[in-house]
Amino acid sequence: MRKIKTISLIAFMAVSLPLYSQQTTSTKPIVSNFEKEVQNHSQLKNLAQELLDGIGPRLVGTPQMEAANNWAVQTFQKWNIPARNEEFGKWKAWERGISHIDMISPWVKSLDATQLAWSPATKKPVVAEVIAMPIFNSEADFKSWLPKVKGKIVLMSPKQDFGRSDYQYKEFATEETYQKITEAKKNASDTWRKSMEFTGFTQNTLPLELEKNGAVAVAISNWTGIMGANRIFGAKTKTIPMIDINNEEYSMLYRLAENGKAPKLSINVQSQFKGEAKMYNTIAEIKGTEKPNEYVILSAHLDSWDGAQGATDNGTGVITVMEAARILKKYYPNNKRTILVCLWGSEEQGLNGSRAFVEDHPEIVENTIAVFNFDSGTGRIVRINGAGFEKSYDYMGRWLNAVPDYITKHIETTFPGSPSGGGSDHASFLAYGAPGFMMGSHNWGYGGYTWHTNRDTYDKIVFDDLEYNVILAATLSYMASEEPEMVNKDRRIMPMDKEGNPTKWPEPKKAERTSDYYFVK
Ligand SMILES: [Zn+2]
Repeated sequence: MRKIKTISLIAFMAVSLPLYSQQTTSTKPIVSNFEKEVQNHSQLKNLAQELLDGIGPRLVGTPQMEAANNWAVQTFQKWNIPARNEEFGKWKAWERGISHIDMISPWVKSLDATQLAWSPATKKPVVAEVIAMPIFNSEADFKSWLPKVKGKIVLMSPKQDFGRSDYQYKEFATEETYQKITEAKKNASDTWRKSMEFTGFTQNTLPLELEKNGAVAVAISNWTGIMGANRIFGAKTKTIPMIDINNEEYSMLYRLAENGKAPKLSINVQSQFKGEAKMYNTIAEIKGTEKPNEYVILSAHLDSWDGAQGATDNGTGVITVMEAARILKKYYPNNKRTILVCLWGSEEQGLNGSRAFVEDHPEIVENTIAVFNFDSGTGRIVRINGAGFEKSYDYMGRWLNAVPDYITKHIETTFPGSPSGGGSDHASFLAYGAPGFMMGSHNWGYGGYTWHTNRDTYDKIVFDDLEYNVILAATLSYMASEEPEMVNKDRRIMPMDKEGNPTKWPEPKKAERTSDYYFVK
């Protein structure tokens, strides 16, 4: 018995250890403790399960967003890290209910479709014929078509004749077929764009015009170009439901409609508007002992769109910085500077949470040595740039040197780099001259598969890559916290644009603190 036990233990160790133990390279005992903790006691899966499965998507203004704020505070507190929810504004309160969307003629099929965020609900199911918006060759064309939408469910996106992912055409088609398809796709999208111009409306404004002309629902298909993946954003109608249908079924409905088969749908979408909801940033704080009024910031937005679970945008960033905070608290006692973990609200509608934070806390922004922002998917970090700070190479280079080389060997650095004007929350800090660094992830098909899509789910997380990121986040925070003096924040001379004019350092943008700007009046 005993013997067998020993053998199986060795076999187990041989399988499970090499990833880290053979490669542990940090000479700093604190960093090697970070590594051991991640290797033996990672909480990433638990955190992901609680946040993504247990709470779900975190659209601004929903009860799930508030539940996520509360969960984060409680989780930090469980680790003896003080945390709070800081209110920064109010948003239209809404809760998603069911979406049951069925084709009922010419045959029956329950569709892979969903209401968009903030879609008006149906009182009883809307049962109506579908009309496909055709190609318009003139404004008059559009005007004469418009009355036909009365009483109909309008298909407002183009159909796709080529529903496979491009890489498949590239891999399997003959060279001739691939050329032909590529050209046909380009022609179709040019033709659609021109047709849209004749309407005088945009994707955002046309739904309301259809509503005004008596449409009973608007359906789109915001296909990413990857089979099965659609992006799910907000509705642009005021009283009628607006839904997204997966490309495969959408294009079928479109073909049926344009071929006179008069397909019919039944749309039952439920949801509730509930006045106003408060918006919060969740801020956790490990107080510094020597320089408590100087800050290292771990940053990730907690909110998401709600087509799926918001797993890679940005559940992975959230659990990475939370887990880093946990191990910092455990293995880095008496941190010199204060370490803040900031989980932002309403990033998706324009960096609202982080912009509000930098407006509300100039004393923090001014005394921040570095912001490490995690918001580019599930991949291991492969890109860090100096964000436009002339001397960034000096300190960032030294900090990265303390990170084990099986992690840094994947990272390409660019110095001094350039400051982002937007895109994610580090930009809010950069606008005020605080060193804000985007931790750029390996791609994992982020743009096509998961970014804002109905496929952004737990199973897409690559936990091995996140473990690297946790060690990176903790080590950079530790090093920044220990840095003897405040870093040099001189800005680089900005490069010329294409016309030969010097580009400018990004200006601060005002935080939106209500949802008034966002919704059609
Ligand atoms: Zn994001």
